[in-house]
Amino acid sequence: MTGLRRRAAGFADAAGDLDWVIGITFGSQEAWYKARVGFGARGAEAVFFRDGEYWAKGAISMARQTANETARTANIGPVVLIGPPGSGKGTQAKQIVCRYGIPQISTGDLLRDHVGRGTELGLEAKAIMARGELVPDELMYGMVTNRLHKPDCRRGFVLDGFPRTAAQAGWLSALLEKELFDNNADNKSDNGSDNRSGKSKPCGPVVIQLMVDYNQLLQRLTGRRSCPTCGRLYNIHFQPPKVDELCDLDGSKLVIRDDDREEVIYGRLAAYEKQTSPVVEYYRAQQRLVAVNADRPVEEVTGQVFGAIDSHRGC
Ligand code: AMP
Repeated sequence: MTGLRRRAAGFADAAGDLDWVIGITFGSQEAWYKARVGFGARGAEAVFFRDGEYWAKGAISMARQTANETARTANIGPVVLIGPPGSGKGTQAKQIVCRYGIPQISTGDLLRDHVGRGTELGLEAKAIMARGELVPDELMYGMVTNRLHKPDCRRGFVLDGFPRTAAQAGWLSALLEKELFDNNADNKSDNGSDNRSGKSKPCGPVVIQLMVDYNQLLQRLTGRRSCPTCGRLYNIHFQPPKVDELCDLDGSKLVIRDDDREEVIYGRLAAYEKQTSPVVEYYRAQQRLVAVNADRPVEEVTGQVFGAIDSHRGC
């Protein structure tokens, strides 16, 4: 008997021969589907298994579809990913973008964009970033505020790389509270409740901490390469290109990010330890922290991350 049949049979047993229930768990999203099957107790069994499988398949696909649609239309709110460089924040953020349809806001990417465009902020940040140090908080706030005010952030957003200091965390809480509580009229219903969460008191962020072993981090960072043409990421230890140092897609010579050079990596990890650990403590004290073991395979980590977001939703 397949697992699905066994499960259907188990539920049928528990629920009686007329009503059966299939509980499906994917990620941590739990969907329950009830189906009424009009067979008598005995004759039902054979049919039940056949039909049970049919129903089960239908239910699974319905549940998946419903969960996907819900994820892409519901208010997700702010999601904060915390973890040292190389912990997979960028990778997980992209999965979140895909599933929930909310934007990824990577402060590292925003800064690199400023550097690339040679803006005033970019000119100030460039040397600091090349040394692997943190850009001063005051330079970050304007950039982050501008980004969070864009319309695509209304249902939620995933912050990757921010906050990185306790001061940034406090600043973000104040900003979110102001944004969420002092909303402009079009986010409020007639009775003043907030339409984005459907409640008068909106949610704070869900904060997901990606935990990775230090030696594993070193390998991830020292091995990281990217294609300057298409942006595809590789790792010479875990995910090498087919031909040494060349992009599989367009043959460009792969590059090492300035701040992934070995002499800089130690500084970045030390900066994380010193300045970002207080951020972890800040959110732990607020009971907002969900720790995820990010040493596991990517899909498994993603499952845990989705689970954290799903159980936070509508809190
Ligand atoms: P990342 O791509 O997140 O590793 O960021 C690259 C670099 O950008 C960091 O090493 C810092 O120099 C700078 N940076 C990114 N986010 C922040 C932040 N929240 N606060 C200060 N500096 C940041």
